[in-house]
Amino acid sequence: MYSAINNIPNTFHDISKIDLQIKDTLNRKLLLDQYTIASPVVFGGVGVHSGKAVCMIVHPTTVDHGIVFERTDIEDQPNRIRASWTMVQSTNMCTTIANHFGVSVATVEHILAALTGIGITNAHITIDGPEVPIMDGCSQAFCEGILEAGTVRQSKKRHKLNITHTVKVENEHGWAQISPSDTSLFSVHFTPSQRYEGLTGDQHQEFSLLEDDFTKLVAGARTFGFYEDAQKLWAAGLAKGASLDNTVVIHKGTVMNESGLRFTNELVRHKLLDAIGDIALAEYLLVGHYEALNPGHTLNYQLLKKYFEEISA
Ligand SMILES: [Zn+2]
Repeated sequence: MYSAINNIPNTFHDISKIDLQIKDTLNRKLLLDQYTIASPVVFGGVGVHSGKAVCMIVHPTTVDHGIVFERTDIEDQPNRIRASWTMVQSTNMCTTIANHFGVSVATVEHILAALTGIGITNAHITIDGPEVPIMDGCSQAFCEGILEAGTVRQSKKRHKLNITHTVKVENEHGWAQISPSDTSLFSVHFTPSQRYEGLTGDQHQEFSLLEDDFTKLVAGARTFGFYEDAQKLWAAGLAKGASLDNTVVIHKGTVMNESGLRFTNELVRHKLLDAIGDIALAEYLLVGHYEALNPGHTLNYQLLKKYFEEISA
């Protein structure tokens, strides 16, 4: 559920300082400029891991602000967390970021993917709980809410991360790499393990941040998992908010959700969605080629960490 709101009290920034009050229809060619959202938009729902109901509001903000989360339920210590790879606390099942006081926000990847896919570079996100709402398991509701609120082009160009050399990380399931290219291209491959029991063959999806429509190609692809794993996670007090309403659930080689899959290659499209959200933690527009086989949050984080450590060495 989302709703646009107009007269929200604004305590952390002066709206008058947001430059260029032009409500743009988004032009992908303008993605080299900085953008913010035109008015605050509210998203309510539960965290897929915590099961906690939260209210998250994406607010407009000033140029060069970046994406910053603010935990409004925490008042006795610094409660802002910058959406940066340097703030990653955990990549187990989702991407969790935390500030230096340990104040964290979990499952940031789907809202970051939506913002990146639409081209929003500056947003201040307040949230009254520990985890971003899962909505229906993808970025679609976030995109709809943000686009309904509108986007505002700001007076500065985006900061770019021009990839200068190839960096690759691997684990037992696959690999991820970034290499030089004058595009902002994501290519993701997915090879299902035996656990999928023939549900699908190899899948592949490409997406160019500056040319393709995120809302059509990527935003609707939902998170997925195995029924047997959900049973174990629930028994361990995890994945408390997971359900058929927000997860593609696979059991004995079939999809349990009544309406089936949204795309024949929905699984790899979600891997792509997660990658776009995780790589957004670079805080710059990736100018290069991200390519991966069976990536996950850990590989995506390790990739950014390795690249930034190498260029700063
Ligand atoms: Zn995901």
